[in-house]
Amino acid sequence: EHNILFIRGFMILFLSCITIRLNFCISSIPSSLKTLPLEGYINFDEVGHAARDFGNRYRYHPMAVVHPKSVSDIAVTIRHILQMGPRSQLTVAARGHGHSLHGQAQAHGGVVINMESLKVPEMQVYPGNSPYVDVSGGELWINILHASLQYGLAPKSWTDYLHLTVGGTLSNAGISGQAFRHGPQISNVQQLEIVTGKGEVLNCSLEQNGELFHSVLGGLGQFGIITRARISLEPAPAMVKWIRVLYADFTAFTRDQELLISAENAFDYIEGFVIINRTGLLNNWRSSFNPQDPVQASRFKSDGRTLFCLEMAKYYNPEDTDLANQEVEKHLSHLSYIPSTLFLTEVTYIDFLDRVHVSEVKLRSKGLWDVPHPWLNLFIPKSQIHNFAEVVFGNILTETSNGPILIYPVNKSKWDNRTSVVIPEEDIFYLVAFLASAVPSSNGSDGLEHILTQNKRIIEYSERGLIGVKQYLPHYNTQEEWQDHFGPKWEPFLQRKSRYDPLAILNPGQRIFQKAT
Ligand code: FAD
Repeated sequence: EHNILFIRGFMILFLSCITIRLNFCISSIPSSLKTLPLEGYINFDEVGHAARDFGNRYRYHPMAVVHPKSVSDIAVTIRHILQMGPRSQLTVAARGHGHSLHGQAQAHGGVVINMESLKVPEMQVYPGNSPYVDVSGGELWINILHASLQYGLAPKSWTDYLHLTVGGTLSNAGISGQAFRHGPQISNVQQLEIVTGKGEVLNCSLEQNGELFHSVLGGLGQFGIITRARISLEPAPAMVKWIRVLYADFTAFTRDQELLISAENAFDYIEGFVIINRTGLLNNWRSSFNPQDPVQASRFKSDGRTLFCLEMAKYYNPEDTDLANQEVEKHLSHLSYIPSTLFLTEVTYIDFLDRVHVSEVKLRSKGLWDVPHPWLNLFIPKSQIHNFAEVVFGNILTETSNGPILIYPVNKSKWDNRTSVVIPEEDIFYLVAFLASAVPSSNGSDGLEHILTQNKRIIEYSERGLIGVKQYLPHYNTQEEWQDHFGPKWEPFLQRKSRYDPLAILNPGQRIFQKAT
């Protein structure tokens, strides 16, 4: 009995020591971070902003936010956290413009690096035969557009919305209506500078550190922080002919979309969207557009049908207007849209590319921008798109869509299989994006719960009833689900993780790995 008492006493003493030591470690974390030799600064008080994102559903507060002034600030922070060892539980998340949907740029109790503070290198455009621009990983695409246009140049591949950072979109893929020709943004990068999860600062490209280069592109921020990118440019047009036509027949719609993405010089941008409107009243798909035939157009009634809008753009310069008109006419003549539904407008290249910002301004003024956004993005193989449309647009989303539904095909040949992004196996696959907004104080068909239930039905159907569907901007909660998502790419993904971020301290908000303890 004496021995048992002794052992128990010893155990209590031992556990108390561990607890005191742990508490000491945890409470000493902020003070040790405070002493980091940074050119920028670290903030422990104003951290609420870093716990928010566009999705507006997840809110994890970090312990601190680093505002880096140099790449070394980021490397120093990572190295410091590494030195604290696994027991500190501290993680690091790069935050671009915070336009993630599920807290992907957040770090619960960790350190968020506010990438927009990083202003080095100063943006520099290199004109010439193969023009490019060097930018900071925290640069917004809209700023890159303005800077490169000063040289008559522009990046080739875009996202629909430009107030996103280079590091944020390159960690995913970055796609829009130009992707069928140029591939996603990750196919248009020549070089990167990365701070890895080991705190090393490395340059990488196809020729140098190629494995790191491919890992980081589409790598969901798991291998390193992108601090600099070299982006390919092309001559920029001055103007854009922007065209919308409608289809009631989904087969004709996709046949024409696929025809256009395989044509050499037809259009420079091809997207499309679904109009679900049981009331028969057409929504604002044509506002700011002019009908080619106003009389016929005014007679067109949707009759409550689900319609499919094909959206095309042709770039041109004013001196080539006649040629552009002829080209447009020629390519439109091969399409089988409803003839009375041809709508056109001509806008500057900047206005075209920055088009979603106009909606942002309007929505902000109505208090409808900072609402929950239960978005769902899927890549659907071409062979599955008809079944998908039948079930999703025919059975699941029958009344309204609570926001735009984009649908457009891209060519797999423009994607590099060595990058980390996961896409379907077929030569052509579709992006289908359900971009719903849950308006405040609504619990009907536009309430958050209702939209989430619909999304769940769409995911369940797509993942169980169809073959080869992948989520874009993926979100999963368990490692098993991630493993399924990556499929044969899972093992290489794990190997890359252990090589570049062995303690798994980077970007925990993706919920793929837990920091090693
Ligand atoms: P954040 O949300 O801040 O970060 C995204 C992820 O990348 C996080 O995991 C973060 O930790 C990581 N990360 C951020 N910066 C870095 C870095 N420098 N190095 C390493 N990792 C980093 N996407 C498209 O492809 N096409 C579209 O047309 C499109 N349209 C959109 C329209 C709107 C209105 C919105 C809100 C989003 C849209 N997106 C689109 C999605 C967008 O590309 C992603 O949400 C992207 O992650 C947002 O970029 P961000 O700069 O805000 O990144």
